[in-house]
Amino acid sequence: RSGFISIIGRPNVGKSTFMNHVLGQKIAIMSDKPQTTRNKIQGVYTTEQAQFIFIDTPGIHKPKHKLGDFMVQSSINSLNEVDMVMFMVNAKEGFGKGDQFIIDKLKQVDQPIFLVINKIDEVHPDELLPLIDLYKDKLEFAEIIPISALNGNNVNNLLNVMESYL
Ligand code: GDP
Ligand code: MG
Repeated sequence: RSGFISIIGRPNVGKSTFMNHVLGQKIAIMSDKPQTTRNKIQGVYTTEQAQFIFIDTPGIHKPKHKLGDFMVQSSINSLNEVDMVMFMVNAKEGFGKGDQFIIDKLKQVDQPIFLVINKIDEVHPDELLPLIDLYKDKLEFAEIIPISALNGNNVNNLLNVMESYL
């Protein structure tokens, strides 16, 4: 089984750290420059049963100029062409305007959307449930999975669940 996974989320939520952890190399950071193409392959992770092709989809944030609306829309459209979307958020910072902007746009996406709550090493477990409930009210996610990309906590579980969607 094989599939394309788009990773989206505000800057600094930990997308590159996640890719580095999964791929075990610094690939994601090396290609973390401003990009002109919509979908840039960040890396391919292969297990015995599955192949995950991770794609970075930048540009889903409130546009600063008029052309920006077109670029945001083009990024959103591309999410309907992958097998699943990983929307990463920051457990520590909680819910912000940037997240709301992305969620509003994700209403146009029909593919399974995983909400990945990263940086759980920085919050008390009691803070996690209210955050999950808050996100649940905002959009129908296929799965909601807390992880720490930094120390790898629950990342294998995330990959296993993703595999069942391929
Ligand atoms: P990106 O902009 O979404 O690609 O975010 P980065 O992967 O560059 O991470 C931004 C910052 O958050 C870096 O300083 C990372 O070390 C840190 N970071 C990423 N994941 C975690 C995590 O799970 N826990 C903690 N504590 N820090 C993290
Ligand atoms: Mg990055």
